[in-house]
Amino acid sequence: MPKQLYIETVGCQMNVLDSELVVAELLSAGYTLVDAPRKADVILFNTCSVRQHAEDKIYSALGRLKHAKRHRPERIIGVLGCMAQKDQERIFRRAPHVDLVIGPGQLGRLTTLLAEVAAGAGPRIEVSLDRATGSRAAVRESFARYDPLRVVDARAVRHQAMVRIMLGCDRFCTYCIVPRVRGPEQSRPVEEIEAEVRRLADQGCLEVTLLGQTVNSFRGTAAGATVRLADLLGRLHDVEGLRRLRFVTNHPRHMTADLLQAVRDLAKVSPYLHVPAQSGSSAILGRMKRGYTAEQYREMLAEIRATIPEATVTSDFIVGFPGETEEDYRQTVDLVRDARFKNSFIFKYSPRPGTKAAEQYEDDVPEAVKRRRNNELLAVQNAIGGEDNRALVGRTVEILVEGPSKTARKHAEPGGPVQLTGRTVCDRIVVFEGDPSVVGRIVPIEIHKATAVTLFGRTAGHVGSRQSAAAGRE
Ligand code: SAM
Ligand code: SF4
Repeated sequence: MPKQLYIETVGCQMNVLDSELVVAELLSAGYTLVDAPRKADVILFNTCSVRQHAEDKIYSALGRLKHAKRHRPERIIGVLGCMAQKDQERIFRRAPHVDLVIGPGQLGRLTTLLAEVAAGAGPRIEVSLDRATGSRAAVRESFARYDPLRVVDARAVRHQAMVRIMLGCDRFCTYCIVPRVRGPEQSRPVEEIEAEVRRLADQGCLEVTLLGQTVNSFRGTAAGATVRLADLLGRLHDVEGLRRLRFVTNHPRHMTADLLQAVRDLAKVSPYLHVPAQSGSSAILGRMKRGYTAEQYREMLAEIRATIPEATVTSDFIVGFPGETEEDYRQTVDLVRDARFKNSFIFKYSPRPGTKAAEQYEDDVPEAVKRRRNNELLAVQNAIGGEDNRALVGRTVEILVEGPSKTARKHAEPGGPVQLTGRTVCDRIVVFEGDPSVVGRIVPIEIHKATAVTLFGRTAGHVGSRQSAAAGRE
């Protein structure tokens, strides 16, 4: 049996979580993880199809493995995730040396299919039903849950973990491929979520991030009663050992008062809210079918600020959506300026075959204009991020220490202090020099320098009593 595994992951946190689960399952089955494809018997790509660029990257990587496969034909190459679901058999046509194609809704079949390929059964494919075919129940069933046992060694940072509380999406924003490749929206049973979070806390996990495409539309049941996200946070808050609880991604339409109150009142819940706006123009939002206007988004923001004044809000934006005029784009810039997001992920519109926007609207904003709008908006956002970060200089914040920084990993010297990184409860990255024994602990750090995306600090004795409430929530 082949036993050396290499896995490469692109895309969102759902993919990062799926890869962790795949690694956990294969580690339990006796595999070891290696850090380069040339050392591996099994090479897996966990793929994304949200933008063309993400797909191009994977097809290039697959192309580069053609020779390696010819050299060692017993080596297994697998494509998992969203592009597997979207392109299906086409992957074998474009890269005939691929052995395995598995959609995100069929990851539970991975070990069986790996064994079949290893036994010489030839290429294998397992994908979910197309949403347009089959009954709703059959489609839902074909996007099966994948919940192997969590393994500490499969996590990049053992003290942090993601927990899926919802699968799929039913919103069908006109630009987005996710509802097709990740299937119908399904909330996970409450008891399962609670059991998983308890198990993670028992493994020493201090921070849990709950995941869903529209996580704030979660709707579960317990003892016959409906459990919304606010209720779920209340239930998970009681899990012993857990220190921080977060959730992504929020949809602006579901940012309800009870949820904001739960974030305000539950000490372990981070006042960190990722609520993508996508555009500041109501005309564009209408064509994106987002379900709110720019004014309604601004009202929602005002409600967040009124309920949780210390909240940190982040967003996603798409620039160059079909028909986006300079005036539409200006309205997006205005929104970024007014909202003072902690940061924004900014993307150039990429038409996705099979989506309504790709079929009905011409991709009419030239690439150079998309690029200019992207860079300009990023500069506006970074200036705000820098200003807000600099306001923290001189203050003490609490961070969960994740491990050595990238620089430290390259220039590690045994003994002495190491450059470490960690995150505040609002997801701000902090770099400081410290003893590696603090990894996995929540420690106070005094900030002495700031850039748009990083804070630099030094170990502080303790969080001063006057600062402690604010620092704890920073
Ligand atoms: N469910 C989340 C939401 O509604 O905000 C986001 C899901 S998607 C994986 C992450 C981000 O990718 C989106 O918020 C959007 O900004 C961006 N995105 C999705 N489709 C895109 C497309 N066709 N072109 C460019 N960006 C896209
Ligand atoms: Fe895509 Fe919209 Fe669903 Fe987010 S809410 S995953 S952007 S369809």
